[in-house]
Amino acid sequence: MNIIETTAKTILRKRKRIDSWFLSKCGMNLYRGCSHNCVYCDGRAEEYYVSGEFGKDVCVKTNAPQILKRELDPATRRKPQDHGFLMLGGGVGDSYQPVEEKYKLTRQALELADTYNLPVHILTKSTLVKRDIDIIDRINKQRRAIVSFSFSSVDEKISSIFEPGVPSPDERLETMEMFQRRGIPCGMFLMPVIPFITDIPARLEATVRKAKEAGAGFVLFSGMTLKEGKQMDYFMGTLLDYFPELEAEYSMVYRGEKRGNATDEYSSYVNSMLNILAKRYEMPRRIPPYVFKNILKENDHVAVMLEHMDYFLRSRGQTSPYRKAAYSVTQIEEPLSNIRKRLRELKGVGNATESIIKEIMDTGTSRYYDRLAKL
Ligand code: SF4
Repeated sequence: MNIIETTAKTILRKRKRIDSWFLSKCGMNLYRGCSHNCVYCDGRAEEYYVSGEFGKDVCVKTNAPQILKRELDPATRRKPQDHGFLMLGGGVGDSYQPVEEKYKLTRQALELADTYNLPVHILTKSTLVKRDIDIIDRINKQRRAIVSFSFSSVDEKISSIFEPGVPSPDERLETMEMFQRRGIPCGMFLMPVIPFITDIPARLEATVRKAKEAGAGFVLFSGMTLKEGKQMDYFMGTLLDYFPELEAEYSMVYRGEKRGNATDEYSSYVNSMLNILAKRYEMPRRIPPYVFKNILKENDHVAVMLEHMDYFLRSRGQTSPYRKAAYSVTQIEEPLSNIRKRLRELKGVGNATESIIKEIMDTGTSRYYDRLAKL
């Protein structure tokens, strides 16, 4: 691994709208590049402009704690900031990749979250997150912390091929169990499901079953993208080394879609399998509302639940008005309670959606949401 120390002008990456997967409006890349070197990693794609050789060169933003302090400190802001959950992880480098042992940038970011009383969501493939369980526990008790672990399967051999720099699935599951025992909400991001390799029904079932046994409170699924260029070239090189017989299947499923997505037909096949497994193991497919109740602002809480409902229906091939309604809710500045009598004026909000929104506002949950989540 080559470490390249650098300085950054800004650290926080802000979004206008809450992300209903991560419950966040704000994330960060403390490192660019990732020595975990997952073969499918889309951080390799040209659009992210990660310099150097992905998997070997890791850029460390050494001044990140100072910049982050300035960005998070409420005293330096004219208006109070609302980040939802502060997101640590994802993007173009795992926050707990090996270089974190030396630089402790993630730990320092957590210390700032603790100081400023901010909820955090950590997504990692590393067991190094155990090192920070003390501070994560403290954040969870005073605000809320979520720890999500990323997997492509729980198969040790497949992981050693496709995730060569990552602790084994068993070690990740043990780490998840440790967080669960401390009462810290945790779950699995099954991202990505690798076509024809980790989507074999028995393998998928083993993954969801082991997540359940380790105490995961949710499993979120996502397919694999293959963007033309470095990401696709690197992945296909490994695929041809280990699974040359799959080349033809891959060319059927990846047909040059702009974002590198698999065909709709394949995606709905995987979705339907995952829906069956989630039902069998009573596993939420989105982070459940009790985890973010009283943490997210009212409008964000409602918007996230509406987007989840939209997902539940779409993953079964049905259409829904909830995405539109969620979008409208995120566009207004005023709290929904202030316009309670005028909810119907929002685009996408009809009679039924209005009563769902009111129920969420009054109770933090919705009976219809619960029904859809179990389908
Ligand atoms: S851990 Fe995440 S960021 Fe790092 S190489 Fe793997 S997929 Fe990419």
